[in-house]
Amino acid sequence: SSRPEEREWSGACHTADGHPITVLANIGSGTDAQVAHRAGAPGVGLFRTEFCYLAAPEEPDVAAQRAAYAEAMAPFTGKSVVVRTLDAGADKPLPFLHASSEPNPALGVRGLRVAFERPAIVDRQLEAIAAAADDTGAAVSVMAPMVATAEEASWFVERARTAGITRAGVMIEIPAAALAAHDILDAADFISIGTNDLAQYAFAADRTLGALATLNDPWQPALLRFVDTLGRAGGEHGKPVGVCGEAAADPLLAGILLGLGATSLSTSATALPAVGTALAEHSLADYRKAAQSALSAPGPDQARQHAREVLG
Ligand code: PEP
Ligand code: MG
Repeated sequence: SSRPEEREWSGACHTADGHPITVLANIGSGTDAQVAHRAGAPGVGLFRTEFCYLAAPEEPDVAAQRAAYAEAMAPFTGKSVVVRTLDAGADKPLPFLHASSEPNPALGVRGLRVAFERPAIVDRQLEAIAAAADDTGAAVSVMAPMVATAEEASWFVERARTAGITRAGVMIEIPAAALAAHDILDAADFISIGTNDLAQYAFAADRTLGALATLNDPWQPALLRFVDTLGRAGGEHGKPVGVCGEAAADPLLAGILLGLGATSLSTSATALPAVGTALAEHSLADYRKAAQSALSAPGPDQARQHAREVLG
């Protein structure tokens, strides 16, 4: 463990009126995990496992996967680590999963869809995750990427439970899944909003195209409406609603996400101190007020401005 003066931020986080907030780290490797731990992250909200295998010519066996996952979990014994199953495809093709090309890779067989075609792959991954959790004592949960329906969510949660993983959730990053949030929350233990893809699919705007950056701006009021809907749904079900897309890395937007009902945020280690510090500046009631004001803005710049006016 590092000396206090090496840490920029303690990891402890609460609003100005004392509501505790969880701000977790996004990681893609064991090295990222160590960096996040040193930055004061109290856990991991998104472990992008596909980042471990971007260059792998074939599927790593269970023992190799177990070792890689244990490396990422090791700094977080007793802490929460949310492991996302392979989100391969589109911008992140994996050589051992994607032999053929698709005309529209962002709309293709990607994320959990690969697992429907080849369930043994996700089963081996879940087995390795469960073993790594035992090895490290991290409080591990799993979540599936690119879930479109409640049926898909149930399919994944059942497989996770069969593998011995008791906490299983899904990402909400497809608009249809957001509309099915209540049914999904019946099946899943939690949801985590992937604002990067949710923006891409909601606005029909390729997230990698700079020319469409305004449509992919996480301050777009329609994207905030999705977060609002999902925050309410989570509240009604008494289940956690995380945000793990880039939106959570913006210190001003982080407060708005809380005000819309997010119960945890997850962001890159570099953004953690600024987000954690900013969230302590106002009360939850103020974040709620600012969120309602941002929702009613005609565009992203005005939404930012509304938030700044309320939070001053
Ligand atoms: C997202 O889509 O917002 C997300 C967190 O996942 P990724 O960026 O890995 O697609
Ligand atoms: Mg995504």
